[in-house]
Amino acid sequence: MNKKSFQNRIAFGVWLNDIRSTPILDEAWPSVLIDQQIMSDFQKTTEFLKKAGYTDIDLFGLLTNRDWPGDIESVLTPERKSQVDHLIHIIHSSGLQLIYGLGVYSWGFDTIIQNDSEVRGTNPSALCGSKVKSRELMRKVIDFIGKNFEVDGYHLEAADQGRCRCEKCIEEADVEYYNRLNQQTAAYIRSRWPEKKLLVNTSGYLPWGDWMNEIERRSVLDLGKNIDIFIDGGNHGQFIHENDRSVFINRLSCDYGTSGGFWVYPPQRFNRNRWFLPYVFQSTTHLRNLYRDGSRSCELYLGPLINPSTEMNIYCLGRFLQDVDRSPLDLIEEGVDVLYHLKDPTQRNNLVELFQNAEAAFFNNWSPHRLSKIPNLYSDGIDSLFQWSKLHRDRAIPGELFLDSLTGQYPPFPVYLTEHFDRERRESYQKDLKNLLPILESLLKVSGENRSKIEVIQSCIQNTLKDIEMVQNIQELN
Ligand SMILES: [Zn+2]
Repeated sequence: MNKKSFQNRIAFGVWLNDIRSTPILDEAWPSVLIDQQIMSDFQKTTEFLKKAGYTDIDLFGLLTNRDWPGDIESVLTPERKSQVDHLIHIIHSSGLQLIYGLGVYSWGFDTIIQNDSEVRGTNPSALCGSKVKSRELMRKVIDFIGKNFEVDGYHLEAADQGRCRCEKCIEEADVEYYNRLNQQTAAYIRSRWPEKKLLVNTSGYLPWGDWMNEIERRSVLDLGKNIDIFIDGGNHGQFIHENDRSVFINRLSCDYGTSGGFWVYPPQRFNRNRWFLPYVFQSTTHLRNLYRDGSRSCELYLGPLINPSTEMNIYCLGRFLQDVDRSPLDLIEEGVDVLYHLKDPTQRNNLVELFQNAEAAFFNNWSPHRLSKIPNLYSDGIDSLFQWSKLHRDRAIPGELFLDSLTGQYPPFPVYLTEHFDRERRESYQKDLKNLLPILESLLKVSGENRSKIEVIQSCIQNTLKDIEMVQNIQELN
């Protein structure tokens, strides 16, 4: 019997260094540094992704983050060219396809917009969508990437940084506007490279907490005729209401997918053993329903595999995408076998229980709704960054959980313990995590290679406990 599986099992970078084994403290997010460390992490991660059953890696930042130079081409030094070619070689050698993360009219044009009034509208980070020169510039970027690199597809991101609201652009409503830019970009890529996989992501399409109405959905149906995959990511809720989903998927010509319902956004500045947050039960529940409604594509966020909870999440979810009838417990058992090789059956069961209980400890205690009035110093900084529903802000729940402040204006701080936990919840999370320590003690009786990996889990849990204690002692938060 055929297994029920997702066809496009995409691992989402997001950015080049999000899988990195070491934090980057001295660069603004998102860093596009390429060095020996990221080369080596890349090698390990792509091999791991293949083993877990992913088909593609979707990556931003191979060439730039916010700033294409005016002539586009000078972004590429001979050194960068050979580094990027090498990374692409690593991806292809692991049997994965590369989906290039492409900012559409935004993400990459900040400096050009500053210097050129012919592409400038009202948004310092997004080209005006009504000017001829903006479209020419977008084409130039695509030509440059297509000519120089062996990419297998494009992730089109038009809405993440907002839009132009000049007199001309404002005639179009948001969803129609973003769909037009995506559609026009997709059509251009199709005309030159018809075989490339084209994916559109909805981040920023609407304020978080809002749902698309029928006019907006129809506009997506049109877009769907020109692309392969429509990802309604769900960073703070999906834009297609769950009740409308199966009917919508049925009407849509391309695939529909999400980012898995829940994920930890990879923190650039955090020590890699500062959190322990398995979410296999949480995500498989979402993905099973998604499959039931007809979805066959999704893109799940990556992170540093050196964190044992991240490693377990990515492994189990990759396996799940190939057979959605599997239970989360069965997946974690397999994960423990493949990643830890414990011989003693009691130890094996203990480790399975540890992952299971650590997940429950978080989800039984957090508040999915964002708590209000967190002082800036201790907040994730996304309140002013994104648009939120005016009427239904309460619907905007992660989706994406930020552990540290995204833009990093303040020293690294475990913002998830303030945005989603009050004093009482933290205390209860702390108690549940402490209950895991005796299991850990018994697990640490094993020897050799296994022991060192279990020591990493111990350090992650101890560091989380330290963070909770530190937050509990901050007067301003109590
Ligand atoms: Zn405009």
